[in-house]
Amino acid sequence: MAKISINMKEGDVEKESDVIIGIDLGTTNSLVAYIKDGKAVAIKGSNKEALVPSIIHFSKEDILVGDAAKEKLISDPSNTIFSVKRLMGKSYGDVDKVKELFSYSIIDDDTESLVKIKVGEKYYTPIELSAEILKELKKRIEKELDAKVSKAVITVPAYFNDAQRQATRDAGKLAGLDVLRIVNEPTAASLAYGIGQDAEIEQTIAVYDLGGGTFDISILKIHIGIFEVLSTNGDTFLGGDDFDRAIVNYWIEKNKIDEAKIASDKSFGQSLRLMAERAKKQLSTTDSFSATLDGVEYSIDKKTFQDLIQPLVEKTIDSCKMALKDAKLDKAAIDHVVMVGGSTRVPLVNESVGSFFGKPVNNSLDPDEVVALGAAIQADVLAGNQKDLLLLDITPLSLGIETVGGLMDTIIPRNNKVPARAGRNYTTSVDGQTNLKIAVYQGERDLIEHNRKLGEFILKGIPPMPMGLPKIEIQFILNADGILTVKAKELRSNVEQEIEIKSSYGLSEEEMALMLLDSIKNAESDMNARVLLESRNEGNNVYKSTLRFLAQNDHILTDEEKAKTKDFAEALNTTIQGDDKDAINQAMEALNEYTSPIAHKAMDLNIKDALKGKKM
Ligand code: ADP
Ligand code: MG
Repeated sequence: MAKISINMKEGDVEKESDVIIGIDLGTTNSLVAYIKDGKAVAIKGSNKEALVPSIIHFSKEDILVGDAAKEKLISDPSNTIFSVKRLMGKSYGDVDKVKELFSYSIIDDDTESLVKIKVGEKYYTPIELSAEILKELKKRIEKELDAKVSKAVITVPAYFNDAQRQATRDAGKLAGLDVLRIVNEPTAASLAYGIGQDAEIEQTIAVYDLGGGTFDISILKIHIGIFEVLSTNGDTFLGGDDFDRAIVNYWIEKNKIDEAKIASDKSFGQSLRLMAERAKKQLSTTDSFSATLDGVEYSIDKKTFQDLIQPLVEKTIDSCKMALKDAKLDKAAIDHVVMVGGSTRVPLVNESVGSFFGKPVNNSLDPDEVVALGAAIQADVLAGNQKDLLLLDITPLSLGIETVGGLMDTIIPRNNKVPARAGRNYTTSVDGQTNLKIAVYQGERDLIEHNRKLGEFILKGIPPMPMGLPKIEIQFILNADGILTVKAKELRSNVEQEIEIKSSYGLSEEEMALMLLDSIKNAESDMNARVLLESRNEGNNVYKSTLRFLAQNDHILTDEEKAKTKDFAEALNTTIQGDDKDAINQAMEALNEYTSPIAHKAMDLNIKDALKGKKM
């Protein structure tokens, strides 16, 4: 399983695992799993819990992730980031309406580009923040395996669009993970239940996933080992958090709490929220809850709780109806209902879903873990350790291009199977036209102005001809991860251009158009640009961790060691400002070479931890 590499220069032995890990990067909680002795297992932390709250806390000194960060929701809410997944691949315009749901600052100067999160004086992208969560998970499994891991499968909701999928991949990369596959969460959940293993049986499955802040229902058809997503539906703002909020509101009314106090005292609001969550969880197994906060008693009984959440549960059932309608199925056609997500532990949820579908629900696996376990199984398939299972997914939104008058011309329709390939012929609308702009959109509306722009490029060098004569073939190729390649070719002259549509995060329309054009003109220089950015990122990380290392070990290091380390770090920092990737890499190597023996010398484990991951 593990590969051992020996660093000849330093005599170090480094173990590198071949294991491909499965990650459920959740809105509320995340976890990592792998196949151990032929069985998928979720990695538990020192607290014996597999779930890592998807929460990040920033202090001057360090970044906390998980349970430690969750505690900071009360003591330091404005530096504590949660629900980052909601912001992945989203522009400010997308989240403007819901901004008040976050107790931290979400900023952007223009509504087109993607959101950033302000913590203190710094700005972070959702990708960077998600990478922090992934790094924590990576650390966990590396500790468990006592070896480095570098390959992963990460799950995303079935409705995630291209930008969101790409952002997830990039977060993986930032965390030092090669993301081999992005898998839809319901597909992973089905895999965890081993559904479809028997090639003889054809089954239709409903995957009901009620998490902390989101609800998804997916209808899958499984036959001869193939998983096909027939339809998806849901609500991106409905989940266990709403149950908590319902309890909080109930208490506000019942205990006559001044709303102004909640608004002005963030930590009181958070305490109340966390207490409501405790109440909810307790009511999954008992009939009543009561506790005190600041000397005041708060209580609620099960019946009241159920009345509070009844309308919310009803809404999820409405979504189930719509998903069935989209799949053109009657609920009687569903063979199994798979329950996913922590909120399906609420008995009323289980009962309501069971009675709607008219059969007992499938909840024998831990609803928190199923997605990660399925991701681990998919990872194992990719590693070649299992008889190949074909995984078929669907595109959640239509993909198309802009045609005359700002109309959306759909090329790959919504709910089409992925991978997919589709094409259509176009022509010019002006005599002698030599350029054709191809703008790619995603969405269901008829006018492109209502849809989401993914990118554009210009097919240049069409020989001048009367309008209507050139034949321009546009092809959309969507790969298994939902990444789109668009090809344009003038068939009379064979002039052709091709681009890969990356998401538009962090870029203005102009920058994006420029980048896409460049990618057509010169794929190689694009690749170099990417590598440079990655080196800068890496260099920056090394630089920062070195400064942290210096600060943390000030008392152990000699003056000379401190001065020299600083010199190497500053030399690295200088190269980061330039654009020579090799210079950056060399500076990193030089720094690493110098600091490694110092780390070895120092016996403190913390020191080694600080330097971990900066080997070239
Ligand atoms: P996500 O997929 O959004 O990351 P999870 O599937 O981890 O979310 O679900 C988290 C939600 O499940 C939270 O709202 C949490 O309060 C809720 N939850 C966890 N355990 C229970 C329980 N025993 N009873 C009710 N709700 C629970
Ligand atoms: Mg989930």
